[in-house]
Amino acid sequence: MEILDGKKVAKEIRENLKQEVELLRKRGIIPKLAVIMCGNDPASTIYVRNKSKACKEIGIEYEEYLLSDNVTMDELLNVIDNLNNKKDVHGILLQSPIPKGLDINEAFNKIFYKKDVDGFNPVNVGKLCIGQDSFISCTPYGIIKLLEEYNIQIEGKNAVVIGRSNIVGKPVSQCLLNKNATVTICHSKTKDLPEITKKADILIAAIGKPKFISSSMVKKGAVVIDVGINRKNDGTICGDVDFDEVSKKASYITPVPGGVGPMTIAMLMNNVVKAAKEN
Ligand code: NDP
Repeated sequence: MEILDGKKVAKEIRENLKQEVELLRKRGIIPKLAVIMCGNDPASTIYVRNKSKACKEIGIEYEEYLLSDNVTMDELLNVIDNLNNKKDVHGILLQSPIPKGLDINEAFNKIFYKKDVDGFNPVNVGKLCIGQDSFISCTPYGIIKLLEEYNIQIEGKNAVVIGRSNIVGKPVSQCLLNKNATVTICHSKTKDLPEITKKADILIAAIGKPKFISSSMVKKGAVVIDVGINRKNDGTICGDVDFDEVSKKASYITPVPGGVGPMTIAMLMNNVVKAAKEN
């Protein structure tokens, strides 16, 4: 069994991006990311801090727009509109969740697709579906990069994705399909889940339930990608996969933390640099 070391791969990606940013800066292009956050959700605060740290390390300028819990949809759309029109801002990211009562899809619609570094605008979602160059959302993109970095074949494999959210399950399924895997998408209404997961050559868990995937659900030699971030009572985090047991059966497995999480941030940085180069 080999660990898919997202932390190490992400560091290499960030180092390469740092050099790219240096070259861009010499040409007078200073990549800039604007992050919008509504309210002060503790998990979001940590994610946003990590993103700002990564920007600083790479040489990407970073601007934060902290809106209150009571922000209205019009106010939020207005902030996005202003950022769409700012020439020096290359990437716009709206940190989720946003307060109840606001429509996150309407907000994603508003982000100009060429600045949509999270890949949630319907234009980018559509482009991904028809195989055109687009901003691919960062977690799915990071998963594919990690598989590629370890030379894990995707084409022709049975890939099973558990979870069908717009931010992980659906786009990662589409990415795997684009790479010629045979993809099965499972969700809470799926019948006989273990029967399906046991056939997976590549198993992706994006559920949000601690240690949901037990070793009896996994085929011997499977590649197991754990997207889950579940906070335990003691403040530490664990994934959706029972790592200790499943790692005895898998050929490759991602740890939590240190697997998909760092790859997500690295691919965000990648997308900001791409936006700066293309705008
Ligand atoms: P969502 O809650 O939006 O989606 C969870 C999915 O799991 C849903 O499709 C749901 O099905 C499915 N599900 C829930 N229970 C079961 C079950 N018993 N059997 C089968 N399927 C089930 O979560 P996200 O996609 O946003 O995130 C998933 C996890 O990944 C979370 O832990 C999140 O924190 C983490 N995450 C990690 C990231 C990273 O960078 N590492 C980035 C983003 C998320 P249904 O649709 O039927 O409700």
